[in-house]
Amino acid sequence: MDLTKNNGLNLKSEAAEFFLFECEKDLHKILEHSEAIEKKIQVIGSGTNTIFPRHFSNIVIKSTNNNFKFSEEGDIAKLEVGAAVVWDDLVDFCCSKNLHGLENLAGIPGTVGAAPIQNIGAYGVEVSNLIDYVECFDTKLKITRKIRNENCDFAYRKSVFQVETNLIVTAIGLKLQKEFNPVLNHESIQDKTYRKASDMIDGIRTIRNTKIPNPLDFPNLGSFFKNPIMAKEKYNSNHKLKDLKHYEMPNEMIKFSAGEMLDKLSLKGMKIRNVGLSTKHALVLTSTGIAAAKDIKYVEDILRNMVLEHYGVELEREPIYL
Ligand SMILES: Cc1cc2nc3c(=O)[nH]c(=O)nc-3n(C[C@H](O)[C@H](O)[C@H](O)COP(=O)(O)OP(=O)(O)OC[C@H]3O[C@@H](n4cnc5c(N)ncnc54)[C@H](O)[C@@H]3O)c2cc1C
Repeated sequence: MDLTKNNGLNLKSEAAEFFLFECEKDLHKILEHSEAIEKKIQVIGSGTNTIFPRHFSNIVIKSTNNNFKFSEEGDIAKLEVGAAVVWDDLVDFCCSKNLHGLENLAGIPGTVGAAPIQNIGAYGVEVSNLIDYVECFDTKLKITRKIRNENCDFAYRKSVFQVETNLIVTAIGLKLQKEFNPVLNHESIQDKTYRKASDMIDGIRTIRNTKIPNPLDFPNLGSFFKNPIMAKEKYNSNHKLKDLKHYEMPNEMIKFSAGEMLDKLSLKGMKIRNVGLSTKHALVLTSTGIAAAKDIKYVEDILRNMVLEHYGVELEREPIYL
């Protein structure tokens, strides 16, 4: 199966073993096959946060579960959504049904099944604020489990699913509001007034389009590094960080913009081996021609080393090499 068009950087990629799955029965069959040929299983979504190899050695699988299940509990609307649903389609669907809470997360590419993996977040909201449970097929126990929010170990761009890769997300359960109460804490939207959810969704997509290069023109994975977070004490003792913008966080922590660090090092727009940093946003790594995972790694290492040398800060990568 050719997966070149199934990854955000358009890296040439193939999987000798590729299967779609919709339900638990399909996963049992795939698991039996994987045990028989002694190959691991690699689940993918739309490949917008992953760096694909030229040839997958594992069995690659992808959900086709597009189901929705709705229920109500007083003011709370509960919606279970299949892993294959496109995240941004879900945002529009909820808006059309007057179900609220996802507005800040409009415009994020990818699938519903991948949303809890790195706990997608934007403009002051993380998906963990809305998740009730994550339905998973556990390949170790060979059963379907519903993992409640409090057991998902959600944090900034983190969750238990990054560690327990035996959990294949089959659906997510969301708790949504029936009234539109916009969350406007983020600095980019704090001065805005949105009368309707659809206005907010359009507004967020417009802001995103001005900041992030369009993946159709410039193949990319969104932010390539996480914004560093460190203890205030460490910040105070590092004079190299003094001329950077910083944001106070709970528990005496400070957050920086990794994009600003790269920008201040004049790396915006740099390019080596058909890999570069966008001229629009220094945190967005783009593939500008034929490139492979090793080229991405080469550029990643240069960027990390420069930031470490100059600021004494170790950047953490956001996308995952498969
Ligand atoms: C232009 C652009 C902008 C972006 N903006 C944001 C942003 O604002 N905020 C943000 O948080 N992210 C952002 N991202 C990153 C990306 O959109 C999200 O991480 C998204 O959730 C990835 O979805 P995907 O389906 O493409 O996942 P993939 O890249 O296919 O997979 C990501 C990870 O999830 C795992 N996975 C996928 N499906 C499943 C499943 N069913 N069960 C278990 N594991 C699974 C994969 O194994 C992999 O480890 C952006 C990306 C791009 C290209």
